Parts: sequence; C-alpha cells; structure tokens
Amino acid sequence: MALQSEADKRLIQDHFNDLIKACRKNIKEADIASIEKAFEFANKAHAGVKRRSGEPYIIHPLSVAQIVISEIGLGTKSVISAILHDVVEDTDYTLEDIRDLFGDKIASIVDGLTKLAGDFDSSQAENFKKMLLTLSDDVRVILIKLADRLHNMRTLDSMPPNKKLKIAGETLYIYAPLAHRLGLYAIKTELEDLSLKYEHPDAFEKISFQLRDKEEHYHYLVDQFIKPIETKLKEEGIKFAISARPKSIFSIWNKMQKKGVSFDEIYDLLAVRIVFSAKDETSEKRQCFEVLALVTDIYKPKPDRIRDWITIPKANGYEALHVTVMGPQGKWVEVQIRTARMDEIAERGFAAHYKYKGEGDSRESELDRWLNRIREMLQNPESDALEFLDEFKLNLFSSEIVVFTPKGHMKTMPKNSTVLDFAYEIHTDLGNKCIGAKINHKLVPPSQVLTSGDQIEILTSDKQKPMASWLNTVITAKAKTKIRDAFKQDQKQHIEIGKKELEQTFRKYNITLSSQTLKKVIEYYKLANKEQLYSQLGLSLLSLDDFESIFHKKSDNLLVKYWKLTFNRSKNKEELNDENAGKFSSLDRKKPFILEEDPEHKEYALAKCCNPIPGDDVIGYLASDDSLVIHKTKCPEAIKLMASHGDKIIAAKWTPFKTVSYLTHLQLRGFDRVGVVSEITAIISKEHNINMRSVKFETHDGIFEGELFLYIHNTLDLTNLIFKLMKIKGVDYVDRMEEIQE
Ligand code: MN
Repeated sequence: MALQSEADKRLIQDHFNDLIKACRKNIKEADIASIEKAFEFANKAHAGVKRRSGEPYIIHPLSVAQIVISEIGLGTKSVISAILHDVVEDTDYTLEDIRDLFGDKIASIVDGLTKLAGDFDSSQAENFKKMLLTLSDDVRVILIKLADRLHNMRTLDSMPPNKKLKIAGETLYIYAPLAHRLGLYAIKTELEDLSLKYEHPDAFEKISFQLRDKEEHYHYLVDQFIKPIETKLKEEGIKFAISARPKSIFSIWNKMQKKGVSFDEIYDLLAVRIVFSAKDETSEKRQCFEVLALVTDIYKPKPDRIRDWITIPKANGYEALHVTVMGPQGKWVEVQIRTARMDEIAERGFAAHYKYKGEGDSRESELDRWLNRIREMLQNPESDALEFLDEFKLNLFSSEIVVFTPKGHMKTMPKNSTVLDFAYEIHTDLGNKCIGAKINHKLVPPSQVLTSGDQIEILTSDKQKPMASWLNTVITAKAKTKIRDAFKQDQKQHIEIGKKELEQTFRKYNITLSSQTLKKVIEYYKLANKEQLYSQLGLSLLSLDDFESIFHKKSDNLLVKYWKLTFNRSKNKEELNDENAGKFSSLDRKKPFILEEDPEHKEYALAKCCNPIPGDDVIGYLASDDSLVIHKTKCPEAIKLMASHGDKIIAAKWTPFKTVSYLTHLQLRGFDRVGVVSEITAIISKEHNINMRSVKFETHDGIFEGELFLYIHNTLDLTNLIFKLMKIKGVDYVDRMEEIQE
C-alpha cells in the first residue's frame, strides 16, 4: 500500500468532515459510526491511487456520497454504498468482504453499482439495459449511479477529448432524461449544462457570457414583478419565499436551436416561483388556488394557461400550479405555485416522494406506475438492447394522458397511445380481437390516437387476429410485447415468407445469394442472424428499400450521388477494404482528428443524416468497415452513437476550408411583398463565396416560403449570409435544414 502525503491526508479528511456535517442533519447519530467505518475501509482500499486529475481516488466516492446525502436526500445505506461503490471494481477487495463487513443490503447495492461500472465499449446499450434491470431491484442503485455520473461530469476536464465526448454524449442521451424522469430537476439541469459545455464549448461560453451580462437587468425585472405579490401575501399572513432563476444554459441553447430564435427572445421570458408553508386546516390544493387568486388579482392571467399539476401530478411526481400572467412590462411571466412539500418533490424527486408518501398511503403513484411499465418492458425477452433503449427513451419522454373505461374507471396512458394500446392495457384478448372502439360514443378505428378525457369502449370480433402493421400502431411496450407474442406462435410461417422475399430481392438485383452476401445484409441491418432477418422481413418489420446501397450499386438517387461526391473511398471500397484494414484503429484517439481539405484523398465521409459543413461542431464515428463518418455533434444519430458506441467516437476539428464547397439547404419564410424574392437572390449572387444550385419559392395567403440549395465553403460564410437575409424587410425566418434532399 502506498503512503499518502500529508497534504492528501488533509484533503481527504476535509472532504470526509464535510460529508459527516451534511449527514448529521438527516441521519441518526448511531448511524454515523457505520459511515465512518465505511470511509476507513474505502480509504484503505483506494490508498495510493490517484484520479486523472491528480487527486487521491477516495475523493471521488466521498463526493458521490456527498451528492447522495445533500442533493438527493437519501439515507445511511445509500451514503455507505456510495462510499464503497468503486471498491469491488477497482481494488482487490471482493463483494464477500463487503457483505461480511456491511451486510446483505449494502452488498447488493454495491453489486448493482459494480455491474454498471467500467468502460462499456460497444455493448453500452446492453449495460443500460442492465442498469434498468436494477431499477426493479432497488431504485437506490440508479440514484447513486446518477450521483456518480454527476461527479464524473463535474470533473470531466482532466479526461482526453474523445472520452469527454463519449461521457458527455451518454449523459445527454440517457442520464439526464433518467434524472428528469426520477424527478431530480436540479441534477438533470446540471447534467445537461455540463454536457453542452463539452459538446458545444463555444455555444456554452457565449450563452454563459450573455447570462452574466444580463444578470442585473434580470433581477430588476424580477423585483418589479414580485413586489406587489410579496405585499399581498404578507397581508394574508402567508409564510412564503419567491424565487426566480434564469433558464438553464442548455434549455436556452435547446430552444434557440429548435425554434430558431435569438437569445433575447428566450431570455426575456421570466418564470417566478412561489413556495409557501401550507397550514394544516385546509387541503394544500385549496391553499395553492388561494395563492393563485391573489396573484391573478394583481396580474391578468393568460386564458387557458392555468396548469393544475396537483389534481393529477406529472408522471415523475411533480405537483404545482402554473399560471402565465401579464407582467408590468407587458411581457408574459410564468408563475409556479407550490407548497414546501411539493417543492421538495420537485427539486429532489424520487427520494422526497417516498419520504412523504408515508404509511397508510397505498395509492399507486404515477412513479410506481412508470416503474411497473419499465418492468414490463424488461420482461420482454425478444427486444435486443438497442431496441430496448429506444423504447425506453420513448417512455422517458412521453407525458401522460388520462382516459376512462365505459364504467368510468380512470387509466393513465402515455401520450399518443392509440385505441389498440388501450385495448391491450385492459386485457390481452381485448387487444388481440380489437376491431375498433367507440370513443365518447363515436365509432373510431384501432389506430385512433387517444386524447385526455376520452371514454373508450373497445369493440371486438372473434375473427380478428393481430396484424404486423399493428406494431406501428401501438406505442406502449406492453402492447408491442403482446402482439409479438401472438406472432411467435406462427413464426415459422413468417420465416418462410421472409426467406422467399429475400431470395426474390437477390434475384431482382442479380446478386448471388451466398453466406458472404447474406452476412452483409445481416450486418447492414444490425441483426443477429439470418433467422432474425427472415422473420423481420416476414413480419414486414424490415423493408429492403435500400438493398442496393448495401452492395454499392449505381443509383440515380440524388442523395446517393452526392454521398459519393463526398465519399471517394466508396468507389472501390471492395479493394480498399483489405489494405485499409486497421487504418483508423491505429489513430491516436486522445487527440482530435483534424479534418483537412483535400478532395483527392479524403479520409472521411460526411454523414448524410445531418450534412455537416466546415465550421460545424462535429464528431467522428469509426464505422464497422473502418471508415470515418463525420456527424454534427448535435445530430440525433450522433448522440445515439456516442451513447451506444462511445468507444468508436473520435473528437474531430476542421481546418479552415476555402476551396471545396458543400451543398446546404436553407428554409426561409416571411411576408410576401413585391421584390422580396429578387432581393434574396441578389444578395446570394453577390456573395462570391456562395453558389446557388436551386431556389424555389411558394406563396400563399401573403406568406412566402423559400427553399434554397446552395454550395457553401464553411459555417462562417453561411452565418454571414443568414445574417444578411434576416435583414431583408419582410424576411421573418431563415433556418438551415439537416436534410439536403431536394
Ligand atoms: Mn465512480
């Protein structure tokens, strides 16, 4: 065991003292001794080991434990598990040692955390699935894992660039939504901000600067707004606190991206929160509405903008009243009204939720229901890890609606559920035989999307059988599983059908069906084996539309042509494959890959899903054929790759590009006035760095919409152009599109 320096010892002791101080607020004195014991054990186990930052390793588990107690609000067992979470993974001690010293419960939590540790390589999706499996055992494992991830994100600076991108990508893809779903608002926000900092450093810096710049003005606006409310609440003898926090850097960035609006337009939207201590005599709900009445006596509410999350809380347990009112500066302000209890749930989520649930409250919460749905998904042995991840993501983001059975029983369903989902939710037979429904006494097809408040009577027929197309009609994991189950019974038949379809396709394109060509098809669709390929084809889950491109046959498709332009290597890929094998594998992944402008010997391809151009924030992905594909960092496909194949991600940077130009697609919208179109085209043709490929304008009801396809060197030229176009009178909106298909 290596010795610890005096300075290190002091640093460690300081961290531990801080932890104990935080624990004393919430944990019984008797439990403090067992936390000390865990610390001594872990400190000895990790002694002499340093983190990449140079700090003693034990600082990490201590910091995770600190987050667990102060920011999530968990108890003794969780704090101990957090202190021990890396012992089994990183030291010679075993799970048995932990069990002997700390008992079964802590050993099982540490076991869960150990299984989720380490470098995931290409099977990350499998690990996420494992992670979620632990959800059904003990939610604390996930909560501690989130604390672990948060501390790793806070200390990401010392990692090499490719690791930074990988970890930031995973965080944005799965951990932040998971934190959101578990109601950990503050942690979710911080994870998002930190991901943005590493994925789009320039944008992050710029928005942070703008926020600091406007801070004073912001506080002025808030003060003006809340003064009369404060006076009124004091008069009524209500104990309260009003706070306003500016939107997070990530949420501002996200809105700017999605809506194509400026920083100021988003920033100016104030949101104010009133948290008050509820009195015992009346219900919290009633008291919230009383505060609402006081607020709307002062400021006029926007019609239809009162949201009641108390009568039916959000799926993650969130409760509050939201109202949008007209503030003194003539701007809409969102006001959130909560009791102290509701506020703790909103900030700390899950842990607080269970603290308040109390005995005797046998009501199944929204959160319990969600956990049940996750369990259902996990019981589906068919789904492979990536498919599972996609389904899980869908369920993470979906908000919920409330519908009713003919007898008036309430059911909560994910938003966008259909009649068929509802039928399967009630009973498998009802689903399998469903031919439609009566919604509010009106006849509708099985594919009808439900809306909140619908009363649904399912109609069945004994002749009905589940159809392949139903898998596209339903969105719940339960319905999907049941439909697949029904199919499994005559799967043999489907395999036959699929096999025939594949043989026909091979004949159609005049390609020999051999084990080698078959393997290519299987790999292309990322399937496990030929049985899976046949059955997916037989069930119409897969179409062979892009069959040609698997074998790089010529095609007239514009996109494919363009693809070839930017990807010279694909011309004679077959020959290149061998000599190039391992070309990129020897690459130093710790340094950003420099994208050079050399049209003759291009070493990389530009992804056709997002069409990056020089200047965009980009990452490289090492495809299975050892080619390097460049995606925009914000491309959904890239985010997914970072999360599922983080080991194949390479940081990439452009050198200044001046000679080659790239096809780019712009959309414009504005008020149609005489000459506006010619003004737009005049500006473009004056830009000597930009060439027009095609321009299309359409006008209806006094509004014009334009589609521009331009050849552009880099984002600098593009930003300049967009800026000039925006200045034209009548032009209201200009945005760059990911797709470049005409
Ligand atoms: Mn850790």
